Amino acid sequence: MSRLNVMQPWLGSAEVEAVTAVIESGWVAQGPRVAEFERLFAAQQQAEHAVAVSSCTAALHLGLLVAGVGEGDDVVVPSFSFIATANAATYVGARPVFADVDPVTGNLTAETVATALTDRTRAVVLVDQGGVPADLDAVRAVCDPRGVVVLEDAACAAGATYRGRPVGAGADIAAWSFHPRKILTTGEGGMITTSRADWAERARRLREHAMSVSAAARHATVLASPEEYAEVGFNFRMTDLQAAVGIVQLGRLPEVVARRRELAASYAKAIHEISGLRPVTDPEHGTSNFQSYWVEVGDDYPTDREGLLARLAEADISARRGIMAAHRQPAHAHVGAHLPVTDLLTDRTLILPLFHQMSESDQARVLEVLRHDR
Ligand SMILES: *Cc1c(COP(=O)(O)O)cnc(C)c1O
Repeated sequence: MSRLNVMQPWLGSAEVEAVTAVIESGWVAQGPRVAEFERLFAAQQQAEHAVAVSSCTAALHLGLLVAGVGEGDDVVVPSFSFIATANAATYVGARPVFADVDPVTGNLTAETVATALTDRTRAVVLVDQGGVPADLDAVRAVCDPRGVVVLEDAACAAGATYRGRPVGAGADIAAWSFHPRKILTTGEGGMITTSRADWAERARRLREHAMSVSAAARHATVLASPEEYAEVGFNFRMTDLQAAVGIVQLGRLPEVVARRRELAASYAKAIHEISGLRPVTDPEHGTSNFQSYWVEVGDDYPTDREGLLARLAEADISARRGIMAAHRQPAHAHVGAHLPVTDLLTDRTLILPLFHQMSESDQARVLEVLRHDR
């Protein structure tokens, strides 16, 4: 029996052909493919503007910058997230303030955000953890009256829905990831989507050293006009090689999400019969893409989370500890936080293998290890 991975990207000959065409075109850096990927992504997510960048970490960084967050500001973030969420606040000179999450969804709620707000709060980074849509409207109801920007960290959430629309469609600004661990991939890559033309424009410049004319536009003319650098920018560009892969992957998204939801449903059906395990589910306000299919190991299960991970590893199944808690990492421990739900979920959850090419027999192998009452 071969190793069963927790995630496996679904890439094929269409991606190979798309990359080959870019190489043959002679233009491999940010150019026409990136522009096309942005157009297609904006259309699919029902966003007004999309700006491609080198990662979701870069998208979060630029997102906070264009929203005007900086030195002396507080940014409310979940600790229960990949570390990049909290790091982004630090990059712009702000202080991450950790808020707790809902025990069922693993997401921030209007209540947990409200308790973390201070006079200095300038933004909230609302994560759709593991692809489970957060309750954006409820969080905005708390934030909008105070002029607090809500930046949606939709790194994991492409293909998830919130109140009948794609996740992120109702956000002022959202950040996306195309890392292979996520739902669609460009190797590395990210995107900012926003309803604000001025924010999109500034992000577009900042990703390219804040240059007044893009390199692609300069290349299109024989004698380029002199460029200007109005502020200190970054190199957060995506390449056309990556965007070409992204365009193909975007076309696969509906099929990928449908298959993931099918596999999640059969996991759920089987796991509901196993006492002591609670699987992640759709929240009442939307649908998950099940980017991370996590289960919580309860007191009435025969082993704890570490014990179950070990049993899975014995069967050559690579499960993962659940979502991390940033406030417990040395990088952010100085902030200090009391987050009982985050602590509980971080200690008790694990992520089961779930990927597009997973077969029913792969899934049966996992369930066989989870069952304890035979
Ligand atoms: C993966 C992830 C990120 C970082 O994405 P990169 O594209 O790897 O920079 C940020 N936030 C969340 C919630 C993530 O899961």
